[in-house]
Amino acid sequence: MNNPPRHPETLALHAGWRADPETGSVAVPIHQTTSYQFRSPEHAANLFALKEFGNIYTRIMNPTTAVLEERLAAIEGGAAALATASGQAATAFAVQNLARAGDNIVSSTDLYGGTWNMFAHTLKDQGIEVRFVDPAEPENFRRATDAGTRAYYAETLPNPKLTVFPIAEVAAIGRPLGIPLIMDNTAAPIVCRPFDHGAAVVMYSTTKYIGGHGNSIGGAVIDGGNFDWGAHSDRQPLLNTPDPSYHGAVWSEAVKPLGPIAYIVRMRVVLLRDLGAALSPFNAFLILQGIETLPLRMERHCENTEKVAAFLATRKGVSRIIHPLYSGQAAKGRAERYLRGGYGGLVGFELAGGLEAGKRFIAALKMLYHVANIGDSRSLAIHPASTTHSQLSQAEQAATGVTEGYVRLSVGIEHIDDILADLDQAIEQAS
Ligand code: PLP
Repeated sequence: MNNPPRHPETLALHAGWRADPETGSVAVPIHQTTSYQFRSPEHAANLFALKEFGNIYTRIMNPTTAVLEERLAAIEGGAAALATASGQAATAFAVQNLARAGDNIVSSTDLYGGTWNMFAHTLKDQGIEVRFVDPAEPENFRRATDAGTRAYYAETLPNPKLTVFPIAEVAAIGRPLGIPLIMDNTAAPIVCRPFDHGAAVVMYSTTKYIGGHGNSIGGAVIDGGNFDWGAHSDRQPLLNTPDPSYHGAVWSEAVKPLGPIAYIVRMRVVLLRDLGAALSPFNAFLILQGIETLPLRMERHCENTEKVAAFLATRKGVSRIIHPLYSGQAAKGRAERYLRGGYGGLVGFELAGGLEAGKRFIAALKMLYHVANIGDSRSLAIHPASTTHSQLSQAEQAATGVTEGYVRLSVGIEHIDDILADLDQAIEQAS
């Protein structure tokens, strides 16, 4: 009898690892090694020729990191994954694995600021054009597409607007054209499964909810194994033309015997090999430790965040709530379609007192941390107008969804009464 597929709660604890065959170790060991002894000259030659898969050098693969990769792919419902040194590296690799100088991608405007900078400046300097479009209208992606378009890119639950991206609509525009949708699912692990809605690639900053404890920078790219890279070969030249850096391998063909993982194999053996943004095995271990409780933590993050939003909605001195449940019927409908088991751990609100009230609120916090991060188990707050977005003009701030009194919370898993008590006293002092 076939075993039924396991649930994310179970995969988070078991996928990719069963006790060490030599020592019996149940926890995943930290393989803090740079390199691996080859069994023979033939073994070494086979590994380098990709005739056999095995460990060569930790810049390209590592047994601890491999468990993390297999676990992430299993939880996400993908075919294979690659861990990277940071979320930024994961984004860069996800795009550079398809687009090179002269090509373009079409991206949602609603992005993490670091991604925006990379797209608008660094990739541009490398000759990759990023065409930004408003995701409110999915057809904008088609309009911006031409023969040089290699991918679509978006975030599931972008902050500060917190409007869920129309994943299925945009994936359906790209697929018949041979264009994959890459989703940054950093803000919505477990609650959103982009592959179920047609995305071809999912990437994460594992620094956030996946690691969950604010101790390790990391990233990952997951190959859905659900995209036919060879079907429109002109559209994806990097996967369909001979690669001179690998004895002329044509990746969509060369990797076929291993499964539908041409995209992620090329990323590992070309981009990770050449650009070197490898995750340290110790960080892989810490992130794995975090993943064990990810489904449980997401439940509590979502539950606490809804309670915080409900509290803020009744609080004097608060003029607006930014949360999928408080942003109108259309946004709510989108959130209900794409998010399951909760609406994520982020909520924004506007203090009626504007810029000064925002600063006073932050200064008055006793328990919430004031940091430029999200997805920690602890509750976090930031006032973008005086920090992350302070270099932008008021008009630019407004375009990104930031107003003078806007405060973003990443709600943690503490007892809800303690979170509300801190918010209550800080809003009181800010008013
Ligand atoms: N994507 C999103 C949605 C993020 O919030 C961040 C970081 O804040 C990143 C990517 C970049 O990740 P990292 O900081 O791990 O490089």
